[in-house]
Amino acid sequence: MNMNRRDALRLGAISVAAAATTLTGCAYGEAKPSKKENKTNSSVGMGTPAPLPPATGKRVVVVGGGWSGLSVAKYTKKFAPNADVVLVEQRTEFISCPISNLYLVGEVDLEFLTHDYLQAARENKYTYFNATAIGIDKANKIIKTSNGDIKYDYLVLAPGIDYDYSAWNVDTVTEQRLRSEYPAAFIPGSEHMTLKAKLEDFEGGNFILTVPGGNYRCLPAPYERACLIADYFKKNEIEGKVILLDENPDITIKKEGFQSSFDEMYKDYIEYHPNSKIMSIDLDKKVVVAGEFDEEYSFEDAAFYPHVRGGKLLEVCGVAKDNVFNKKVGNIDPFTYEVIGEKDIFVSGDARPMGYSKSGNTSNSEGHYIGKLIAQRVNGKKDIPWKSPLTVCYSAVSARPIHAISVRAEYEFEGKKLKGFTNVDLSQQWRGKTGLNNGKALNEWAKGMFRDMFNA
Ligand SMILES: Cc1cc2nc3c(=O)[nH]c(=O)nc-3n(C[C@H](O)[C@H](O)[C@H](O)COP(=O)(O)OP(=O)(O)OC[C@H]3O[C@@H](n4cnc5c(N)ncnc54)[C@H](O)[C@@H]3O)c2cc1C
Repeated sequence: MNMNRRDALRLGAISVAAAATTLTGCAYGEAKPSKKENKTNSSVGMGTPAPLPPATGKRVVVVGGGWSGLSVAKYTKKFAPNADVVLVEQRTEFISCPISNLYLVGEVDLEFLTHDYLQAARENKYTYFNATAIGIDKANKIIKTSNGDIKYDYLVLAPGIDYDYSAWNVDTVTEQRLRSEYPAAFIPGSEHMTLKAKLEDFEGGNFILTVPGGNYRCLPAPYERACLIADYFKKNEIEGKVILLDENPDITIKKEGFQSSFDEMYKDYIEYHPNSKIMSIDLDKKVVVAGEFDEEYSFEDAAFYPHVRGGKLLEVCGVAKDNVFNKKVGNIDPFTYEVIGEKDIFVSGDARPMGYSKSGNTSNSEGHYIGKLIAQRVNGKKDIPWKSPLTVCYSAVSARPIHAISVRAEYEFEGKKLKGFTNVDLSQQWRGKTGLNNGKALNEWAKGMFRDMFNA
């Protein structure tokens, strides 16, 4: 549609008027800056109250409507119906990362992954507020958003992850090219759509995938993705090969299941290279140098998955610095998820510093617990005892029909130090009936999780 200057000016005038009406219609007095105002990002933000009705009870603001935030919002409200719960999310709809590897190869459609924030909020009786959190005034307990300031009694930060390309020593031009031309597809939405289109257009040759070091989002997902892309090449008779460059010395999880899948099903379609940290990337020549012996790998196409870090919002809110929680900026109580020294601020989901698996089931189960804990506080009751998050993760190793492997585990502490997994249940058998049953369970698991987050 072409717009002339007069139309543009008219539209501008309407927008300003609409914004003014919205702003004057909101609850003033809620977020007035005071002399006590904390220095942390206090100058950032609209400086005007968000267009929300006055709080009807203790206000619990949850920032980030992912697997963790959705669960915290729902269960806080469930256990403290008198609380006024607001979910601040920058997206207009939810798209799932789990199951997205099956979407990439055409096994499920985008609709299966996409869900409605308004439905979640309606059914679970909280408010969905579409905005980006951009600052905080801790002294006055105000979270600043792109659509106005919100006063909170309890604040939960659940922003998920951001990518960290610094370990690859790339300049900002290359980093930006990596983000837009070769996205990792570990943050949902456009990145996944781009990767799916790449696969559809792929005519053969090397397709590079990388596995980062550190505690990256969803340990098994890069291996699952390698299997499913190889399966797609095989079934569509594409002369392509997945080159899987793993920074780690070995497959990081479900090793037996993935290794046997590589060896038995995808011998001609997957080349697995452990100890292959990326040393340099030349996007014009399409060559990667990796590993301690500077091996060169040429590629026709790729999806580069860099290291991950907790969402930048944690720094914006002054609860971590350079993604590190420490005594100076606040530490996290591993059992209550509260930022020590920052009363009533919690961090949950993949953004947390604890070494739990960065996975959806873990984040969701943790959200149940945090919601209940905050509800107790809203109700003036004693904290509930710590409950371990639950990691459940199915990984498809082939499609049509889906054969999968799985892991289920909880966590245990020694004092305040995370000791590791407990109650582990691994199913690495993808062959035959067991593999098929795991495949069916994967589908049922996803439906159950979506029901939990979006239905009452
Ligand atoms: C390919 C792939 C496969 C996976 N498979 C599985 C699996 O099979 N099983 C499993 O359990 N897990 C799986 N995971 C992992 C799972 O997706 C994540 O662990 C989970 O999404 C973490 O939840 P979260 O709430 O911490 O973060 P997210 O789900 O990323 O949610 C964070 C939300 O915060 C919002 N946000 C961020 N900053 C702001 C801000 N400033 N203001 C407002 N909103 C903000 C974001 O828009 C986002 O919606 C997979 C991940 C990928 C990428």
